[in-house]
Amino acid sequence: RAMATSLLHVAPPEELLRPLAVPERLLLGPGPSNVPGRIRAAGARQLLGHMHPEVLQVMDEIKAGIRYAFQTQNRLTLAISGSGHCAMEAALFNLLEKGDTVLVAVNGIWGARAADIARRLGANVHELLKAPGKYFTPQDIEQVSAGHCAVSTSCPPVWSPSPCVTQGLVQHKPLVLFITHGESSTGVLQPLEGLGELCHRHGCLLLVDAVASLGGAPIFMDQQEIDVLYSGSQKVLNAPPGSAPISFSERARAPGSDTGPTAPSCARGCLTWGWSSLWRRRWVRGKPTTSTATTERGQREDTALCSWKCAWAAFDAREKSPRSVMLSPGTVLGSPGAVGLKKARLPTITTVRVPEGYDWRDITAFLMDEHGMEIAGGLGPTVGKVLRIGLMGCNSTRGNVERVLGALRDALQRCHRSRL
Ligand code: PMP
Repeated sequence: RAMATSLLHVAPPEELLRPLAVPERLLLGPGPSNVPGRIRAAGARQLLGHMHPEVLQVMDEIKAGIRYAFQTQNRLTLAISGSGHCAMEAALFNLLEKGDTVLVAVNGIWGARAADIARRLGANVHELLKAPGKYFTPQDIEQVSAGHCAVSTSCPPVWSPSPCVTQGLVQHKPLVLFITHGESSTGVLQPLEGLGELCHRHGCLLLVDAVASLGGAPIFMDQQEIDVLYSGSQKVLNAPPGSAPISFSERARAPGSDTGPTAPSCARGCLTWGWSSLWRRRWVRGKPTTSTATTERGQREDTALCSWKCAWAAFDAREKSPRSVMLSPGTVLGSPGAVGLKKARLPTITTVRVPEGYDWRDITAFLMDEHGMEIAGGLGPTVGKVLRIGLMGCNSTRGNVERVLGALRDALQRCHRSRL
């Protein structure tokens, strides 16, 4: 025993011996959001083997839930073990290979991130740039238009203040167009109407990031002719992070546009699963690796809620009677919203300009320390300029709107304000 102990040169960390303490917090940032008890309880159950029939059944149920949430009949619909980023990679890895041309709509950090991943894949990347806070019209996407150029190709890019000319589908003839439905770094909701049809007219696939919007803003994958759609679990779906829904249309899987067998990552190479017999059994269930079963069970519980929400969103869109709780920027202490047009505001994340004279860090720290509440500062192009307040899924209640407004008023009275 003495000898065994002497082999251990690193002492056991004392902090790991203390019981875990998790404070109560209201998560009103851009995600993650709070997880309801039913979903937490699902994750606390005993583990099963990832190929046990009960687990495979849960996977089938999740696939059905995702099809409902996305409003799609696509066969290749599954939950990736990983966060939204992993789904973004899976989408790009399976659509593009070296030398393919991709057009990426960049009006915040997420388009810039997709362009970065595509560049690393060796794709021929063209960026369609708009100033943060703006969205793309079908005309912007199709043809030459006046946008805002990046003055650096860093991620995120730095936008030049004066407009310049960028080119679209007609000039670049890309294989894929990437666009973000809910730009969580700026608070912009991208209208998707007509984009699928437009892309298909130009022989291009439409890839949409709905990580920050699914369940909070209507999206209809089949009707809107979206070829690849993905989201994440920790935002409107109110599940723990680590399970990202994704779906591929038959067009995206069609031979010719399929690059699956050469996808540079096995775990993310979804399309290989359909063709290789090695993966077939797993692909049928929609899962290539040992699943993160805890989050998956969380998501199984979640899809019931999510399905309901999406059904509501669909109804809402039809009835044109928005009933979601949406923070009106004007009501946040008189500070203007960062997104001008109301129809372009993301219902799940409101961006509000940092009230004059205040440091955003003081405000977010004050809310955390004094009110047990998380809101966030800006991200990428909006750092230092805005506060981001998320109302997602079960957190989207009038009570929480009152709480966050009250906490912000309190912050403005008690945080330091510079006289400049
Ligand atoms: N896309 C968008 C629009 C997002 O808001 C996020 C997360 N904030 C991501 C992708 C990446 O997702 P994750 O953090 O789950 O990896």
